[in-house]
Amino acid sequence: MTDAAITVTQEALESFAAAYLSANGYDVETRDAHWTVTPPSDTSLDLLTTETTIRCGPPEDGDEPAETDAERRLYPGSEFAQSLIDTAIRDTPTGRITLGERHTDLQIPDWLTASSVSRSSASFTPYYDRTAVVTLIRVSIETVSEYETSRLRAIALDTRTGDQLPDLPSTVFNALADTDTEITNFTVDEDRVEELVDRAGPAVVSQLNSTVDEIHNEASSAADAELAEYDRLQEQRIEELADEVARLEQRIDDLSSDVEEAGAREARLEHLQKRKDLRASLDATNEELEALRTQRAHGYPDTRREIRDRHAIEVVSEPVSLTEVGYEQGEVEFELNDGHHTRTLTCGYGRGAGVTEDILCENCGAALTGENPLVLVRKEIRCQHCSA
Ligand SMILES: [Zn+2]
Repeated sequence: MTDAAITVTQEALESFAAAYLSANGYDVETRDAHWTVTPPSDTSLDLLTTETTIRCGPPEDGDEPAETDAERRLYPGSEFAQSLIDTAIRDTPTGRITLGERHTDLQIPDWLTASSVSRSSASFTPYYDRTAVVTLIRVSIETVSEYETSRLRAIALDTRTGDQLPDLPSTVFNALADTDTEITNFTVDEDRVEELVDRAGPAVVSQLNSTVDEIHNEASSAADAELAEYDRLQEQRIEELADEVARLEQRIDDLSSDVEEAGAREARLEHLQKRKDLRASLDATNEELEALRTQRAHGYPDTRREIRDRHAIEVVSEPVSLTEVGYEQGEVEFELNDGHHTRTLTCGYGRGAGVTEDILCENCGAALTGENPLVLVRKEIRCQHCSA
């Protein structure tokens, strides 16, 4: 689920970026994950002002060059994606759009595109007009000390059922980037929108659980390393103090002999005074040593708390844009053909949202996915795992 969500968002971001830049007069030449983007001579956007290479996708491990004016990176959370979205949000009036035929082709689910079963036809019959809200949520994951990252995730929720429509955001971003798309006033009740937005934040954060866990682990390791370093320094200090105690004790012993051996009263008094001073130093050193040993035995509770607090992570989500979307809900009918048999499969479908229900294997009941796609066994719908 998390991987799928990330893929959708990278795709959504790419199609949004391409559509948005083109709509603003940029020439966008795409070659796989490398784009060359040239601004129009009269651009009013300060986003990209010279010919720029855009590399799509998150950096691979150990490959994270800083973004420059000549080369930007496009992936959820990249600096460029952030400024693109910020600019687009500033430019895009919020309101309602209505998705029509021109906004989207029939969306074929991944369990069918990944399947070896062919489809001879597919047709969509709309039954109802439905409304969804699409909101872009910025999730910031931060610690008090050094670490901070933010991610943008789009989420679409049907206003009536509250169900998530994972494929709707990319259609909506494309439609928003199309300057011919008409934007009208919101129609959904404000309280309901607020309810849905309140629900969207935690839903997006839960999609980011693995990222949050990863950062949490990094922060914990950083805290552990800091505490280990603190312990090492304290241990060193304890050794120094123990040496100092031994040295003072030795000097006090030596002075005691000196006192006994001293003939003159004046020399004797001088030794006695010196021994008194040394004993005071010894007491102070012993006290410090004991305090450190106690702290160490208890695992430095105050320091530990201070370090943990500094590395504690906070996850904050905030909506950065909101669009109301009118879409049609109905059914799509796929005519399936595996070369021997044909079968009609009917699924709930929303325009722009794609197939909106899980299709289950008729043998084991598992939901079909891109990884476990559809197989026809005679006329039965099965998942790939059940076809062997
Ligand atoms: Zn199955």
